[in-house]
Amino acid sequence: MTVRKREGLPRQDKDASADPAGFSKEPYSGVRLHPLREKHRVSKLSMDESLELLLRGNAAHADRLLELKVTPADRYAKIGHGEADYLVIACSDSRLLQLDSEEDTHVGIQIRVAGNVIPKRGTPSFEEIRQSAAKLHEDGLVIIEGHIHCGAVNERVKWVEGGMKPTGSAPLDNLLHEVFGSTPSENALAQLTKARQQLHKSIRDSGAVVYDWEHGKFEIIGAENSPAIGMLVDKWKRRHAELSHEMDLKDALKKQKPHAIAVGEVGLPYSLMTVFHAKQNEVFATSGSENGLDDMDEASILYAVEHLGVRHIPFVAPGTAADNERITKMFGRWEADLRGMTVHGEHILSKMLDSGQLRITRLRYDLETGKAAELAR
Ligand SMILES: [Zn+2]
Repeated sequence: MTVRKREGLPRQDKDASADPAGFSKEPYSGVRLHPLREKHRVSKLSMDESLELLLRGNAAHADRLLELKVTPADRYAKIGHGEADYLVIACSDSRLLQLDSEEDTHVGIQIRVAGNVIPKRGTPSFEEIRQSAAKLHEDGLVIIEGHIHCGAVNERVKWVEGGMKPTGSAPLDNLLHEVFGSTPSENALAQLTKARQQLHKSIRDSGAVVYDWEHGKFEIIGAENSPAIGMLVDKWKRRHAELSHEMDLKDALKKQKPHAIAVGEVGLPYSLMTVFHAKQNEVFATSGSENGLDDMDEASILYAVEHLGVRHIPFVAPGTAADNERITKMFGRWEADLRGMTVHGEHILSKMLDSGQLRITRLRYDLETGKAAELAR
């Protein structure tokens, strides 16, 4: 990695350090003590409660945008015009920090995928990453974000020790083939290498970060001298410090326990956590595209439902009312993909959806207001 003089990120970084309040304003304080949030921490939310918490968080997001006189459509257009500042490929785990906030002047794209893997060329998940990388401006940055206690890495270690036998779930098998190494750091470095090999035409600067919430540390891997990565890590550090004031993260994040597994269409102008004003350990996340959900997405969802007991799957896509038809069609495809998935030959998600044990909520994220509205089937 060479250190270059950059136009985009460092200039904005100077602005940010001149006005640290620009990023440090705690956007959550208004919803901090919501009873549903408190309930989630100590017990289990029903599907209705999960949706209510998400929509209440989203209302706070929309209020904040209104207060700042910011419309998500501007960020959406910037991404569409290839002016994004960064692309983060982060694990689906609900304990990661989000990088963005309504106040943020940097425009980023966040892709969530189990084990922060770079999937095989030609798969929908790889296409999401490839197309997003092409939306970065000239000095835009790609970051792989891993974390301690990564379920995907731990599962892989067990799978390798057990002789790499089929698990009974094709998506899970395919995901386990994409994860590498026996620690989150080894995996992050391996995924960074894959990203550099497979995306070399569209990225100039790239690196990896592993987030350790127990010690408040961010290990930078493979791009130690990149000023742009340093700037983004500073943002994460500030966010971590803010949240540490509210709770003991080491204790609160001991076990992953999200109440929803959100599927967000790539191209959302804010991360799913910001769209829902979600705190750490509330929303497990994966990214989908018009090409449907593939093994990487399905493995994430399966893990959240089977291992984490999540019963609510909000689908989220950006658009205006004019996009309802397109979005409804895409959501129909996503649902069909989930219903078609089998584990040991059984359509387990389809059965759970039919019996009411599991719910999908279809939400359009309004690009004018930032409000999430439920779409009819
Ligand atoms: Zn993980």
